[in-house]
Amino acid sequence: MNFFSTNKKLGILGGGQLGKMILYTTRKWDIQTHVLDPKIDSPSKLACDYFFTGDLMNYKSVINFGLGLDVLTIEIENVNVKALYELERNGVKIYPQPSVLEIIQNKSKQKHFYKKNNIPTSNFKTFPNLETIKNSVAKGNLSYPFVWKAASMGYDGYGVSIIRKNKDLEFIIDCECITEDLVSIKSELSVIIARRENGEVKTYPVVEMEFDSISNQVEYVISPARISNKIRLKAIELAEKVSEKFKHIGVLAVEMFLTETDELIINEVAPRPHNSGHLTIESSYTSQFEQHVRSILNLPLGRSDNKIPAVMVNLVGKKENFGPVVYKNIDQILVMEGVTPHIYGKKQTHPNRKMGHVTIVNKNLNQALKIAKEVKSIIEVISE
Ligand code: ADP
Repeated sequence: MNFFSTNKKLGILGGGQLGKMILYTTRKWDIQTHVLDPKIDSPSKLACDYFFTGDLMNYKSVINFGLGLDVLTIEIENVNVKALYELERNGVKIYPQPSVLEIIQNKSKQKHFYKKNNIPTSNFKTFPNLETIKNSVAKGNLSYPFVWKAASMGYDGYGVSIIRKNKDLEFIIDCECITEDLVSIKSELSVIIARRENGEVKTYPVVEMEFDSISNQVEYVISPARISNKIRLKAIELAEKVSEKFKHIGVLAVEMFLTETDELIINEVAPRPHNSGHLTIESSYTSQFEQHVRSILNLPLGRSDNKIPAVMVNLVGKKENFGPVVYKNIDQILVMEGVTPHIYGKKQTHPNRKMGHVTIVNKNLNQALKIAKEVKSIIEVISE
């Protein structure tokens, strides 16, 4: 499928930072792109050829956007899947496939998928609403502590709560949900895998994700993960099994927990470029974004190993700051060795909003981590 400097059209549902970084590749290769996002000032707007505003969950707006495209991809999972099936029937290639998205959009379906395919994951129960959880607790069928997750529309830890007592149930929303056993986590790992139509697969190194204990957002991503070779091989084998079962096209981020007893279990997957792969722009021979474009256009995949170790720091809005954004002290980090800031182009900041990230590369991973911690203490995302 030759897209280079032709009239062939690649569409992206969602115009956020992931879309913007996918567009670095389409710019490099002169691939015509169309982007749909509800917000007129989305990060992707300047980098695409044609920008449209519309609701990604609305059937009609997705159909109108997608008809006439050659290939359509996503940078966010919350899109109207019925419309994607219809577009697929109309000859548009949709990657990741609507059948994959349908499973991933709903945590209950996703967990059942793992169970059916013998993929290790934490024990879970599904519930249609809050009332049924309360009844289950009252009857002694569900006991504290457990993890509550909204079945759909959650992201970045919103829609996830650890429930330890009756009172905690008062703060969760009333919706279809799942509960999971609370896992004793030693570390959280992620493996990104790209797959294309002809079956070619490329696997990125296992990375480690460190979360902020309060916001539940990723604070640092460390590549390669500081784990034994045995666990690394096991993590890759498990991620490749998951990828093989989904048979996704495009990149798939496989998030897993390494438990205190050194077991590896799957937490969830994302069938798109992922926060745990941002550092591949600087660390890898082929960034996850370029790899995604290669996969969905059925082009030969690029090398996915590291050129150099790397650490990524997310830049999120400082608490209590709302309004036009200022990246305080960014000049101080620009002079540091191996440090590359990425600014997403969102004009307004608010607490914990993902506004950018910084990648730190260094031949010595411990040194990269040290610099990452300095970066984190120097730069501040505040409002004017
Ligand atoms: P989201 O889809 O919003 O990213 P996740 O399902 O990944 O939500 O959960 C967010 C975080 O909550 C995880 O990265 C992990 O730190 C914690 N978490 C999720 N599930 C469990 C679990 N079963 N046991 C312990 N911690 C969990």
